[in-house]
Amino acid sequence: MHIPVVEKITKANDEIASINRARLDEAGVVALNLMASPGAGKTSLIEKTVPPLTADLRVGVIGGDIATTLDAERATLAGATAVQITTGGACHLDAPMVRRAMEQLPLEELDLLVVENVGNLICPASFDLGTHANVLVASVPEGDDKPFKHPRIYRGVDVLVVNKIDLLPYVDFDMERFQRGVRSLNETLETFELSCRTGDGLAPWLDWVRGRVRTAAPVGRGAS
Ligand code: MG
Ligand code: ZN
Repeated sequence: MHIPVVEKITKANDEIASINRARLDEAGVVALNLMASPGAGKTSLIEKTVPPLTADLRVGVIGGDIATTLDAERATLAGATAVQITTGGACHLDAPMVRRAMEQLPLEELDLLVVENVGNLICPASFDLGTHANVLVASVPEGDDKPFKHPRIYRGVDVLVVNKIDLLPYVDFDMERFQRGVRSLNETLETFELSCRTGDGLAPWLDWVRGRVRTAAPVGRGAS
Protein backbone atom coordinates (compact mmCIF):
# COMPACT_ATOMS: atom_id res chain seq x y z
CA MET A 1 0.00 0.00 0.00
CA HIS A 2 1.36 3.40 -0.98
CA ILE A 3 0.48 6.70 0.61
CA PRO A 4 2.03 9.39 -1.61
CA VAL A 5 1.87 12.22 0.97
CA VAL A 6 3.76 10.18 3.52
CA GLU A 7 6.35 9.24 0.91
CA LYS A 8 6.89 12.89 0.07
CA ILE A 9 7.39 13.76 3.74
CA THR A 10 9.86 10.92 4.14
CA LYS A 11 11.80 11.95 1.04
CA ALA A 12 12.09 15.58 2.21
CA ASN A 13 13.17 14.31 5.62
CA ASP A 14 15.82 12.03 4.12
CA GLU A 15 17.32 14.91 2.13
CA ILE A 16 17.79 16.98 5.29
CA ALA A 17 19.12 13.88 7.06
CA SER A 18 21.85 13.58 4.42
CA ILE A 19 22.75 17.23 4.97
CA ASN A 20 22.90 16.65 8.74
CA ARG A 21 25.19 13.63 8.27
CA ALA A 22 27.51 15.56 5.96
CA ARG A 23 27.67 18.42 8.47
CA LEU A 24 28.50 15.99 11.30
CA ASP A 25 31.18 14.25 9.20
CA GLU A 26 32.73 17.58 8.31
CA ALA A 27 32.88 18.49 12.02
CA GLY A 28 34.22 15.03 12.94
CA VAL A 29 31.25 14.14 15.12
CA VAL A 30 29.79 10.64 15.47
CA ALA A 31 26.08 10.79 16.21
CA LEU A 32 23.82 8.18 17.80
CA ASN A 33 20.02 8.16 17.62
CA LEU A 34 18.66 6.77 20.89
CA MET A 35 15.18 5.33 20.55
CA ALA A 36 12.94 3.62 23.10
CA SER A 37 9.49 3.51 24.59
CA PRO A 38 8.81 6.05 27.38
CA GLY A 39 10.52 5.09 30.62
CA ALA A 40 12.93 2.53 29.18
CA GLY A 41 15.84 4.63 30.40
CA LYS A 42 17.21 6.71 27.52
CA THR A 43 18.03 9.66 29.75
CA SER A 44 19.38 7.37 32.47
CA LEU A 45 21.64 5.73 29.90
CA ILE A 46 22.89 9.17 28.85
CA GLU A 47 23.53 10.05 32.50
CA LYS A 48 25.57 6.88 32.95
CA THR A 49 27.36 7.10 29.60
CA VAL A 50 28.49 10.73 29.53
CA PRO A 51 30.59 11.08 32.72
CA PRO A 52 33.02 8.19 32.03
CA LEU A 53 33.46 9.37 28.43
CA THR A 54 34.21 13.00 29.21
CA ALA A 55 37.78 12.06 30.21
CA ASP A 56 38.67 11.63 26.54
CA LEU A 57 35.62 12.69 24.52
CA ARG A 58 33.58 15.85 24.15
CA VAL A 59 29.92 14.93 24.22
CA GLY A 60 26.84 16.77 22.99
CA VAL A 61 23.23 15.76 23.59
CA ILE A 62 20.10 16.72 21.71
CA GLY A 63 17.07 15.82 23.80
CA GLY A 64 13.71 15.38 22.15
CA ASP A 65 10.76 15.76 24.42
CA ILE A 66 7.11 16.51 23.83
CA ALA A 67 6.87 19.28 26.41
CA THR A 68 9.69 19.63 28.95
CA THR A 69 13.39 20.43 29.16
CA LEU A 70 14.05 18.05 32.06
CA ASP A 71 16.12 15.60 30.00
CA ALA A 72 18.50 18.30 28.71
CA GLU A 73 19.00 19.49 32.28
CA ARG A 74 19.97 15.95 33.31
CA ALA A 75 22.35 15.66 30.34
CA THR A 76 23.97 18.99 31.23
CA LEU A 77 24.47 17.85 34.81
CA ALA A 78 26.13 14.70 33.45
CA GLY A 79 28.72 16.85 31.67
CA ALA A 80 27.34 17.11 28.14
CA THR A 81 26.67 20.19 26.05
CA ALA A 82 22.91 19.82 25.70
CA VAL A 83 20.16 21.30 23.61
CA GLN A 84 16.50 20.48 24.09
CA ILE A 85 13.96 20.13 21.31
CA THR A 86 10.41 20.41 22.55
CA THR A 87 8.35 18.93 19.76
CA GLY A 88 5.11 20.59 20.82
CA GLY A 89 3.23 17.32 20.72
CA ALA A 90 4.97 15.53 17.85
CA CYS A 91 5.70 11.93 18.80
CA HIS A 92 9.05 11.63 17.01
CA LEU A 93 12.02 13.71 15.94
CA ASP A 94 12.65 14.46 12.29
CA ALA A 95 15.75 15.62 10.45
CA PRO A 96 14.75 19.33 10.25
CA MET A 97 14.29 19.46 14.05
CA VAL A 98 17.72 17.91 14.52
CA ARG A 99 19.24 20.32 12.02
CA ARG A 100 17.91 23.30 13.99
CA ALA A 101 19.23 21.83 17.24
CA MET A 102 22.64 21.13 15.64
CA GLU A 103 22.88 24.82 14.73
CA GLN A 104 22.83 25.62 18.46
CA LEU A 105 25.71 23.26 19.25
CA PRO A 106 29.46 23.90 18.86
CA LEU A 107 29.87 20.87 16.57
CA GLU A 108 33.57 21.52 15.88
CA GLU A 109 34.19 21.14 19.61
CA LEU A 110 32.39 17.81 19.91
CA ASP A 111 33.40 14.18 19.24
CA LEU A 112 30.13 12.44 20.05
CA LEU A 113 26.52 13.58 19.71
CA VAL A 114 23.73 11.62 21.34
CA VAL A 115 20.23 12.36 20.09
CA GLU A 116 17.53 11.26 22.51
CA ASN A 117 14.44 10.63 20.43
CA VAL A 118 10.88 10.98 21.73
CA GLY A 119 9.79 7.90 23.71
CA ASN A 120 7.86 5.89 21.14
CA LEU A 121 8.51 2.58 19.37
CA ILE A 122 6.56 3.34 16.22
CA CYS A 123 7.24 6.44 14.12
CA PRO A 124 10.83 7.26 15.18
CA ALA A 125 11.80 4.18 13.15
CA SER A 126 10.62 5.91 9.96
CA PHE A 127 12.69 9.10 10.25
CA ASP A 128 16.38 9.17 9.43
CA LEU A 129 17.87 12.02 11.48
CA GLY A 130 21.28 12.04 9.85
CA THR A 131 22.89 10.19 12.73
CA HIS A 132 25.41 7.39 12.17
CA ALA A 133 23.88 4.61 14.25
CA ASN A 134 20.45 3.77 15.60
CA VAL A 135 20.44 2.55 19.18
CA LEU A 136 17.33 0.98 20.67
CA VAL A 137 16.93 0.92 24.44
CA ALA A 138 14.62 -1.84 25.62
CA SER A 139 13.93 -2.53 29.27
CA VAL A 140 12.99 -5.60 31.24
CA PRO A 141 9.65 -4.31 32.70
CA GLU A 142 8.32 -3.70 29.16
CA GLY A 143 8.12 -7.45 28.65
CA ASP A 144 9.88 -10.00 26.49
CA ASP A 145 7.30 -9.76 23.68
CA LYS A 146 8.39 -6.33 22.41
CA PRO A 147 10.40 -7.61 19.40
CA PHE A 148 7.31 -9.51 18.25
CA LYS A 149 5.07 -6.46 18.72
CA HIS A 150 7.40 -3.86 17.20
CA PRO A 151 9.36 -5.70 14.51
CA ARG A 152 9.98 -2.62 12.40
CA ILE A 153 12.09 -0.77 14.95
CA TYR A 154 14.03 -3.92 15.90
CA ARG A 155 14.85 -4.52 12.24
CA GLY A 156 16.12 -1.00 11.68
CA VAL A 157 18.55 -0.56 14.56
CA ASP A 158 22.31 -1.16 14.75
CA VAL A 159 22.64 -1.67 18.49
CA LEU A 160 20.31 -2.86 21.23
CA VAL A 161 20.65 -1.99 24.90
CA VAL A 162 18.53 -4.05 27.29
CA ASN A 163 18.25 -1.92 30.42
CA LYS A 164 17.03 -2.71 33.97
CA ILE A 165 18.45 -6.25 34.10
CA ASP A 166 18.51 -5.79 37.90
CA LEU A 167 14.73 -6.30 37.75
CA LEU A 168 14.97 -9.74 36.09
CA PRO A 169 14.31 -11.62 39.37
CA TYR A 170 11.10 -9.68 39.98
CA VAL A 171 9.30 -9.70 36.63
CA ASP A 172 8.24 -12.30 34.08
CA PHE A 173 10.84 -11.61 31.45
CA ASP A 174 12.33 -14.56 29.62
CA MET A 175 15.64 -13.28 28.20
CA GLU A 176 15.89 -16.37 25.95
CA ARG A 177 12.49 -15.68 24.40
CA PHE A 178 13.30 -11.99 24.02
CA GLN A 179 16.65 -12.70 22.33
CA ARG A 180 15.03 -15.29 20.06
CA GLY A 181 12.59 -12.60 18.92
CA VAL A 182 15.43 -10.14 18.38
CA ARG A 183 17.49 -12.62 16.37
CA SER A 184 14.54 -13.54 14.16
CA LEU A 185 14.31 -9.88 13.09
CA ASN A 186 17.91 -8.73 13.16
CA GLU A 187 20.30 -11.63 13.26
CA THR A 188 23.54 -9.75 13.81
CA LEU A 189 22.22 -7.06 16.15
CA GLU A 190 24.85 -6.16 18.73
CA THR A 191 23.25 -6.34 22.17
CA PHE A 192 24.26 -5.02 25.59
CA GLU A 193 22.43 -6.18 28.71
CA LEU A 194 22.90 -3.69 31.53
CA SER A 195 21.44 -1.84 34.46
CA CYS A 196 21.74 1.92 34.64
CA ARG A 197 20.72 1.69 38.30
CA THR A 198 23.43 -0.72 39.47
CA GLY A 199 26.00 -0.06 36.73
CA ASP A 200 26.17 -3.76 35.83
CA GLY A 201 27.06 -4.33 32.19
CA LEU A 202 27.85 -0.69 31.43
CA ALA A 203 31.53 -1.25 30.60
CA PRO A 204 31.03 -3.18 27.31
CA TRP A 205 28.52 -0.56 26.16
CA LEU A 206 30.97 2.27 26.94
CA ASP A 207 33.67 0.38 25.03
CA TRP A 208 31.34 0.12 22.04
CA VAL A 209 30.65 3.88 22.08
CA ARG A 210 34.37 4.71 22.42
CA GLY A 211 35.17 2.30 19.59
CA ARG A 212 32.51 3.82 17.36
CA VAL A 213 33.97 7.31 17.85
CA ARG A 214 37.56 6.10 17.42
CA THR A 215 36.77 4.27 14.17
CA ALA A 216 35.24 7.39 12.68
CA ALA A 217 37.98 9.79 13.83
CA PRO A 218 40.37 10.85 11.09
CA VAL A 219 44.01 10.00 11.72
CA GLY A 220 45.66 12.37 14.17
CA ARG A 221 42.43 13.46 15.77
CA GLY A 222 40.69 12.15 18.87
CA ALA A 223 42.32 8.75 18.61
CA SER A 224 44.53 8.88 21.69
MG1 MG B 1 14.20 10.87 28.63
ZN1 ZN C 1 5.51 10.33 15.48
